Amino acid sequence: MKDKILHTLLRALPMALVLAVLTGTAVWLSRMGEDETASDAIRLMYASAEVTAVLADNAQEDHQNSEGRRVGDQELEIRILSGDHKGEIMTVTNYMSALFNVDVDQGDRIIVRIMTDEDGSYYASVFNYDRGIVLGVFLLIFFALLAVLGGKKGVGALAGLLLTLGCIWFILIPCLIRGVPAVPVTIGVSAVSAAAGLIFLNGYSKKTLCAVCGCVGGVLTVENAYVAKARLQRLRRYLPVSRNHLEQEVRDALHWQTDLEFAPVLKLSDDMEQALQMMSDIDRICGSFPGLDCGSCGAPSCRSLAEDVVKGEAKESDCIFVLREEIRSMADALGAMGGHASGEKGREVLK
Ligand code: SF4
Repeated sequence: MKDKILHTLLRALPMALVLAVLTGTAVWLSRMGEDETASDAIRLMYASAEVTAVLADNAQEDHQNSEGRRVGDQELEIRILSGDHKGEIMTVTNYMSALFNVDVDQGDRIIVRIMTDEDGSYYASVFNYDRGIVLGVFLLIFFALLAVLGGKKGVGALAGLLLTLGCIWFILIPCLIRGVPAVPVTIGVSAVSAAAGLIFLNGYSKKTLCAVCGCVGGVLTVENAYVAKARLQRLRRYLPVSRNHLEQEVRDALHWQTDLEFAPVLKLSDDMEQALQMMSDIDRICGSFPGLDCGSCGAPSCRSLAEDVVKGEAKESDCIFVLREEIRSMADALGAMGGHASGEKGREVLK
């Protein structure tokens, strides 16, 4: 009996150590260094709220452009239910369009964005419906089914799943935000979380070792290392910036002195039908590019070039890879015209 307890403790020790190291790493990554200052992102908070009254409703059903959704605006009185402003009553204007449409009634629960200005004043805007309770109930049902049907293994799988989510949220994303090289950290986090999760599920065994190797090997077999790196870097670029590294005061010369003017650079067309057609053309053209986002065409990403092509401001052959294919086809055609089976002669001509 004593030997069995000792054996179990010895097997649990490495897992406890790994969990302690992961927790310590997560705490260390969440600290704010002395040379770091909170960025503007800290001024934006999300909170749940309840619509206490619909003060005005200027929305109407639109069957032509919005598939029968109501578009227009509503004046709402809301009560904040969570966060720093809990309990406060605010009024917000809820704008409803074909694409952004949160149509609410009195008593509905919503998620609001609360933005705090430099002078300390703040305002709310409607972000989405609050589906927290429904999602929570489904999650509980999922956890219960996993435990009831899977028994000990189900609980192990659940622990592994929670550990993986924790590793992504508290270690991988903070590392990416802090500029740690994306590919090694992603491989490292996936290796550690897969190993720990599978040991939770199946204990120490050859099967577990094979499964861990399979998981880590899967991460390493990316279709193209450069594409993987570019995608991870893009993920980092669009993560909410939680910190910056300004070591001194921003000089006055860098502050805006004049009002910014709105320029509708993202608007494709005034005509909704035409804009939707252009969006689908952008998707199609973007799909024909390699997706490297290398910037060699002068656009910051393949999608930006596709937008420029659709707007008539660029050509598909501005992508160096498309251009190379076109030159190859021309070379092959020239070679064929010259009676050569291969396009080698044509390529020489083009050179
Ligand atoms: S050159 Fe091609 S691959 Fe590179 S960003 Fe432009 S469209 Fe994308």
